[in-house]
Amino acid sequence: MYAPPVQRLIVELGRLPGIGGRTAQRLAFHILRSSDADALALADAIREVKEKVGLCEVCFNLAEGPRCRICLDERRDPASICVVEEPGDVIPMERTHEFRGRYHVLGGALSPIDGVDPEDLRIAELLVRLRDGQVREVVLATNPTTTGEATALHIADAVRAQSPDVVVTRLASGLPVGADLEYADEVTLGKALAGRRTL
Ligand SMILES: [Zn+2]
Repeated sequence: MYAPPVQRLIVELGRLPGIGGRTAQRLAFHILRSSDADALALADAIREVKEKVGLCEVCFNLAEGPRCRICLDERRDPASICVVEEPGDVIPMERTHEFRGRYHVLGGALSPIDGVDPEDLRIAELLVRLRDGQVREVVLATNPTTTGEATALHIADAVRAQSPDVVVTRLASGLPVGADLEYADEVTLGKALAGRRTL
């Protein structure tokens, strides 16, 4: 129906989350109408983010270079690690200004139905970080969903088995059940962090 390059753009845009066929079409035509400079700025931004941003070798947060800013920051408390599902969950936690430790990004949550097993998450890497005895607390800030809760319990067991001296805490309830951390406001999330309980 459309020239192949236009069709290709619609297909690629349609693969983005939350973008249906009609929206993909509308965005494609918006790009076609916009100036060369605007359209190429978008293309360059995508290229640059893929070329320059990778994952931190320590915590698997997004990083420009081998380590993320939080892992490089000497003022952060090395005795405390907050475990989250995705890099996008670090930002709402940071916005609370309640957490001064470092992070560990799992890369998802356990979900046997979707074929996500413990080996698919960075749980082994977390356990390695606990071995030097510097970490005193692991805060499990996985989402308050079925998969997030299952992940928290699994990690709590694994940490207890390997490092019984490390205190494992979970964000307090008050977070909307079934919701993603990403969508919690900073006051609610800050209270959930302050009221965390031992698992
Ligand atoms: Zn890091």
